[in-house]
Amino acid sequence: MSPPILPGLLRRWPTLGFAPGDAEDLRLKKQVLTIVSSSIAFLAIFWGGLYFWNGYALPGAIPLGYSVFSFGSTLYFFRTKRFDFFCLSQQLLILLLPFLLMWSLGGFANGSIVMIWAFFAPLGALFFVDLKAASRWMWAFLLLLVLSALLDPVFAAHARPMPARLNTLYFLLNTGFGFVLIGVMLHYFVRDRERALRRLKKSEAHIRELVMTDPLTGVANRRHLDYRMSMELERHVRYRQPLAVVMADIDWFKRVNDEHGHATGDAVLELFACQLVSGLRSSDFVARYGGEEFVLLLPNTGVDTAASLAERLREETRLMRLGKLDLSVTASFGVTLARPGEGMAQVLERVDKAMYLSKSDGRNRVTVLLEEAAAPAAAEERLSSAG
Ligand code: GH3
Ligand code: MG
Ligand code: MG
Repeated sequence: MSPPILPGLLRRWPTLGFAPGDAEDLRLKKQVLTIVSSSIAFLAIFWGGLYFWNGYALPGAIPLGYSVFSFGSTLYFFRTKRFDFFCLSQQLLILLLPFLLMWSLGGFANGSIVMIWAFFAPLGALFFVDLKAASRWMWAFLLLLVLSALLDPVFAAHARPMPARLNTLYFLLNTGFGFVLIGVMLHYFVRDRERALRRLKKSEAHIRELVMTDPLTGVANRRHLDYRMSMELERHVRYRQPLAVVMADIDWFKRVNDEHGHATGDAVLELFACQLVSGLRSSDFVARYGGEEFVLLLPNTGVDTAASLAERLREETRLMRLGKLDLSVTASFGVTLARPGEGMAQVLERVDKAMYLSKSDGRNRVTVLLEEAAAPAAAEERLSSAG
């Protein structure tokens, strides 16, 4: 192979098992397994050669045989893109290799250090498949370990002790490369999990946003209002700060739909919601309560401020124009303050009553209602009437 082809091939090697349409995490797994399995298979050639060199024929043949099968499984994977079969064959090979090698070396006394490679089977299953597969491989490992213990006297009978220097060299090679490869896999494993977690958090936030938002106007929906209002009521009691609640309802909105069509009605709703939002502080809160009804929560706001804010919004609504259509609408407002110990339903009922008083009074008005309607004349205060 000429020099420019080899580096290109090496660079492309981890990606040769990719299939069109593979998800990002599957690609990562394919890449890591190809790198790890090819590194072990390549290393096994030297490993087997070294045994041969030192006169150990069978222990030399086993890693070489492993390399042949491992590269065969990799090439088969590149051709078929069958990742599940690739995982299975690699896990089986990496589990059998150390046991066969240890047995051929004369059992535990001479060859137990090669066992480190068998951990790649359950570890690989954990990363590339799932926890269930990992525990299956762990059981297979334990079974082979028991078998090795039972048969150890047989293997030990024809053990040929290894020279101390060779033993040291194998120890260093096995532990060194073994831990580097375990480190590589754990690195990808942790990174993959972190990435998945980030993705999950992002989609969770997106879903929460969808669940809490009114799709037409983009303001909070009823569900979000319930959640926020119970929070604000708690805060109002705990910190003894006033909580003003405003309800706004577009006047004669049915007519807008009837005369200009539903799409125009929708556009009016959007514009109305937008205008409500832009008129508030960041700590205030707007929600679409129903069809053309909106609720505003104004924490730490007294009744006078809330009433004049509603008044300003009423006036702005009257002046609002929809695009080129010479279409104008008005809205009726109700204002109230939450009282300590009151539930959400009570406050909403009162503010609804206030808003309906504006309606019955001729619409395009703001009504403040602080007490239950026991003494309506004293309690309510009609603020404005514009014509
Ligand atoms: P009032 O002054 O008493 O409030 O009269 P109104 O016509 O505004 O009140 P009503 O409750 O009778 O009508 C509300 C209308 O709002 C009825 C419904 O067709 C319309 N509506 C509700 N939701 C939507 C929506 O999402 N888009 C559009 N275009 N119209 C809606
Ligand atoms: Mg209405
Ligand atoms: Mg209504």
